[in-house]
Amino acid sequence: VSTLYRSARVLTCEGAVATSASGGEGPLGVIRDGAVLVREGRIAWVGPFAQAPAGAGSTRDLGQSLLTPGLVDAHTHAAWVGSRHEEYVMKMRGADYREIAAKGGGIVSSHRALLASTVGEIHATLRARLRRMASLGVVTCEVKSGYGLTFELEERQLLAIAEAAKDPSLPCVVPTFLALHALPPDMKERRDEYVASVCEHAVPAVAEKKLARFVDAYVDQNAFTTDEARRLAAAAQARGLRIRLHVGQFADVGGAELGAELSAASCDHLENVSETGARALADKGVFCTLLPTASFTLKQAPPDVALLRRVGAKLVVASDANPGTAPSESLPLALALAVRLYGLSTEEALLGATRHAALSLSEPDRGALFVGAHADLVAWDLPHEDALMQPWGVPLARLVLREGRVLAGA
Ligand SMILES: [Zn+2]
Repeated sequence: VSTLYRSARVLTCEGAVATSASGGEGPLGVIRDGAVLVREGRIAWVGPFAQAPAGAGSTRDLGQSLLTPGLVDAHTHAAWVGSRHEEYVMKMRGADYREIAAKGGGIVSSHRALLASTVGEIHATLRARLRRMASLGVVTCEVKSGYGLTFELEERQLLAIAEAAKDPSLPCVVPTFLALHALPPDMKERRDEYVASVCEHAVPAVAEKKLARFVDAYVDQNAFTTDEARRLAAAAQARGLRIRLHVGQFADVGGAELGAELSAASCDHLENVSETGARALADKGVFCTLLPTASFTLKQAPPDVALLRRVGAKLVVASDANPGTAPSESLPLALALAVRLYGLSTEEALLGATRHAALSLSEPDRGALFVGAHADLVAWDLPHEDALMQPWGVPLARLVLREGRVLAGA
């Protein structure tokens, strides 16, 4: 069975090509009165409706809606359980993360909530969250572990993520083992021992059980050092796992340079990055993932987007969905903030949540509309892509398809 989806404005989001293969204009590949032919979960044809192949199958006319690739959220901590509203209120009263940590808040609070949860409970929470994300137009979602801190609990989180990844009625899930996030409370004085056990036991076990595609580390002051992350990366890369890094959220400790040295898939946050670091990322083709919801929550200054542009960095925008610093599951909200707070153009923001995001996750058949790609589509009740950046994360997806199947809407 084939279906031809017709829409007043189709965006192929193929990236920096003047004219896309399907004839779309500009980096977003705009096709007015366009159509996408879906056959067996893949895109069989895309172009102007008037040129659609004859006898292509039944036509579904989406009228004036905007048709884009399914959104790709390339940085989330979506497998969390529990609520951290108490520390949010503390934060709003002016407490900084050190005070919050001293009162038992922060990452350790999510760790405790996980300790009290089964794989089934974590999975149920994650599934519900992914359904809500799908209703916002997200069709691919990276999900990190990282609240377990001990191997047993990290594995519990990764098993819940693996359950969600098997479910075709949810967005496509890309699992990441966030191996160095925080020291467990009882290891504060034994960090070498902790890093060694993560590198020598946890990473090999995760690789062997195929529980993750990427390994991540939080490289920052008061987090992990570049040497510790380098050691982790060596263990991960030796087992075929690729690297993503949290870099420069609070301070520039050389994380971007490390990400380039490791040919990481992505370096994320980047509020604090040197020109050398930014250039190194661009030269190595490492994606630069911006997380504006987090810097909004923390009232931080934006990253140096002008610098990132100047060096030719490939930008990604993600939600950073987490219970502490980005308490929102909405990638559309992150897009609105990327435009409002960071000054991204609509093109930069939207490519950052479609094609660039998919490539950063090693999902080459997603995040763009081209022949042979997965039929991941969103029809928005919006007249134009600029309108997608403006309504503050409101759910305006009318129809969301993953591989041709309805994830949300009708
Ligand atoms: Zn994060």
